[in-house]
Amino acid sequence: MEGAKREIYEVIIVGGGPGGLTASLYTSRARLSTLLIESALFGGQMTTTELIENYPGFPQGVSGDELSRLMEEQAKKFGMETVAQEVVKVSLEADLKVVQTPESTYRCEALIIGTGTEYRKLGVPGEKEFAGKGVSYCATCDGAFFRDSQIVVVGGGDSALTEALFLTKFAKELTIIHRRDALRGTKIYQERALGNPKIKFLWNSTVQEIKGDSMVRSVIVKNVKTGQVKEFETDGAFLFVGLVPRTQFLKGIVDMDEGGYLLTNEDCETSVKGIFAVGDCRKKLLRQIATAIGDGATAAFAAEKYLELKE
Ligand code: NAP
Repeated sequence: MEGAKREIYEVIIVGGGPGGLTASLYTSRARLSTLLIESALFGGQMTTTELIENYPGFPQGVSGDELSRLMEEQAKKFGMETVAQEVVKVSLEADLKVVQTPESTYRCEALIIGTGTEYRKLGVPGEKEFAGKGVSYCATCDGAFFRDSQIVVVGGGDSALTEALFLTKFAKELTIIHRRDALRGTKIYQERALGNPKIKFLWNSTVQEIKGDSMVRSVIVKNVKTGQVKEFETDGAFLFVGLVPRTQFLKGIVDMDEGGYLLTNEDCETSVKGIFAVGDCRKKLLRQIATAIGDGATAAFAAEKYLELKE
């Protein structure tokens, strides 16, 4: 990534997922000076998705890596500047928004937040201890380490189902442990998971503890209907029990709901004039690439209007 070239940008975008990259494409094409701050890889959670089937224009599906690369290339083509840093604080200085990272301080007139979400932790004994030693939150990153092994996936949403389906490429046997007796994920993923001979289900069950030596060896599972507790042997535990928005650094600055999701109006504007939110970190009905992209375009256009009216 290149360094920042100005003292004050018209627009700063925090987060280089599909929402942030789209916002950047639009503000750069509108000839607004734009800085995108991304702490890791462009593409956000897309980068860890093996095959994206529900983004229009790719009838055969597209890999998350490829779509991320294409979006980054397109945004850069129109002059987006980028820095690879993590934003730790945002504050207000009259009309300007001040964005701080451990390395630098940046100022802008309009700020677009697209920091997405991270996987929620299960919060059981052994989870931290065995992270990277059999406990994982990313099937595309770690799946290949589990060739011919027996693994469990915890959760019943789209993440658990899509990642479980991906993991059947490697695992000998896979058990989805879900706390209810009905799945939450999209019907097509439910059908595929329920119809996959490698996938078994432990319904009405929660993981109480993850055990092992140098690697995970078992999970302690409780049946929430009967109260029965048993030890279930496994080589790995993939945990997909929901998402938590990456919005901590905005606490006390913009309004958010009790879960930390940013509250916006239909133009993606937050409770602070000139601060917008896009993608998964925003409170909304559907968190997908397609909706993040719509947010990015909307917020960029709204930011442009905000800057025009300010002058
Ligand atoms: P999610 O939809 O919130 O599902 C979380 C799952 O974990 C639920 O089944 C929930 O159980 C379970 N859970 C939550 N806390 C738990 C706990 N403490 N112990 C045990 N189980 C727990 O999260 P997600 O699957 O990560 O999906 C998040 C969003 O991303 C959704 O909007 C989803 O559609 C989207 N997404 C889409 C795709 C795709 O379209 N390809 C792929 C991945 C994610 P309950 O069902 O009982 O609440």
